[in-house]
Amino acid sequence: MSEDPLIEQLAKMSTLEEVYDIAKDCVRCPLSQSRTKVVFGEGDSHTKLMFIGEAPGEQEDIQARPFVGRAGKFLDQLLKLAGLERSKVYITNTVKCRPPNNRKPRKGEMEKCNPYLKKQIELIKPKVICILGNASLEALLGKTSPISELRGKPIEKEGIIYFVTFHPAATLYNPAAKGEMEKDMLSLKELLEKKKIKI
Ligand code: SF4
Repeated sequence: MSEDPLIEQLAKMSTLEEVYDIAKDCVRCPLSQSRTKVVFGEGDSHTKLMFIGEAPGEQEDIQARPFVGRAGKFLDQLLKLAGLERSKVYITNTVKCRPPNNRKPRKGEMEKCNPYLKKQIELIKPKVICILGNASLEALLGKTSPISELRGKPIEKEGIIYFVTFHPAATLYNPAAKGEMEKDMLSLKELLEKKKIKI
């Protein structure tokens, strides 16, 4: 039996709505003190493709929606480039609350939030997860290798294909990353086609 009461509670749940009902009032980590709203995630709960980023930013915290700020606008462009509709994928973050001043989420915060992410994946059952940036890479694959080493090399684990790329926010301070992310999105499109995964 799990020692974490949240994991036990989540084990009994069978819908994302039930999980959100718990997450929306969560105070499991210090990020609960600085957030305005919990940003749980949004999209098609039956999709075969999830995008998982790092943490909500300022706009996300206000609107309670993931990827709606400047980085989100770029993600929208990338989805379009890959021929994907935002409403047909599921988008969320490694931690559901905004870290103060957009600092990186701490290891302990990611660990506390991880049961929600795991449960989202368990319920959605995606075939492919696009990892956006380091926090998501660490939370999902336990890796801290540079993204540049893992890009373009899909990793298959427990029936899910993990596709690693940069976080769209990286392009805001490193314009060169923009072209690299565009290349990655085209590779993702190819991967979906090759595996005959229709989104
Ligand atoms: S970041 Fe996750 S664990 Fe921390 S308070 Fe928010 S929902 Fe809870």
